Amino acid sequence: MTANTPAVRGTLYIVSAPSGAGKTSLVAALLESVTAVEVSVSHTTRTPRASEVDGQHYHFVSAETFLGMIEDGQLLEHAKVFDNFYGTALASVDERLDAGVDVILEIDWQGARQVRAAVPDAHSIFILPPSRDELERRLRGRGQDEEDVIQRRLRDAESDCTHFREYDYTVVNADFDQAVRDLACIFRANRLRTVEQEIRSASTIGNLLAGAHGSA
Ligand code: GDP
Ligand code: ADP
Ligand code: 5GP
Repeated sequence: MTANTPAVRGTLYIVSAPSGAGKTSLVAALLESVTAVEVSVSHTTRTPRASEVDGQHYHFVSAETFLGMIEDGQLLEHAKVFDNFYGTALASVDERLDAGVDVILEIDWQGARQVRAAVPDAHSIFILPPSRDELERRLRGRGQDEEDVIQRRLRDAESDCTHFREYDYTVVNADFDQAVRDLACIFRANRLRTVEQEIRSASTIGNLLAGAHGSA
């Protein structure tokens, strides 16, 4: 650690949801209201959607490049989702955590399992849609995927949802603004944990306890 590095290392967050539940929009809105948090940009072999920018939404790579990254040990986790590879590069996440920034991984449940095993103090959040019908409306309303892709994602949604119990928190995305507030509460509460406050509020605590000697 260099002299300029904040003493509190960033916290790693995992956010998972069935496709179309609102994970990407919720996390984007969360970033407007919470400071010192960033989203990790995954690598994927999927074809970019019309609205997606390489390097911003994903690093779009060939299967050959992706497999090379696995072989070189560059990925913190990876999984095959809807017939494409998705993965998180380890180096960029570590660098941001070291800089004291919280990092959000928007990844599927298979990747979440790998991250929990590698980083036991990661916090995980599962986002549920309010109903099957609403999930279908959102997937269609997004207007970004072909019909066969939408059908595939709807088929997988139920089995994706069965994994919610593996997560620390569950947020139901019925009302969008309420769901963003729920997410913000999770971040706020974690930053108030005593182990973190002891470092963040060290001078306040130091002043308060300056006269206390060896109390038990
Ligand atoms: P969307 O979630 O419907 O917008 O669809 P995407 O194509 O962006 O993501 C497809 C799936 O891949 C989702 O389940 C994501 O959570 C998952 N995914 C995205 N990036 C990663 C990653 O880096 N690692 C893993 N394991 N899964 C990812
Ligand atoms: P995901 O990243 O989980 O696949 P998106 O963030 O792309 O989901 O959301 C899917 C669609 O649903 C988007 O068009 C988004 O604007 C919409 N959406 C998300 N949350 C809500 C909500 N609470 N109410 C209505 N529409 C929503
Ligand atoms: P989409 O193709 O719609 O962007 O994403 C489909 C699914 O892939 C989503 O459930 C998303 O969370 C997951 N996904 C995206 N990036 C990653 C990643 O880096 N790792 C894993 N494991 N899953 C990812």
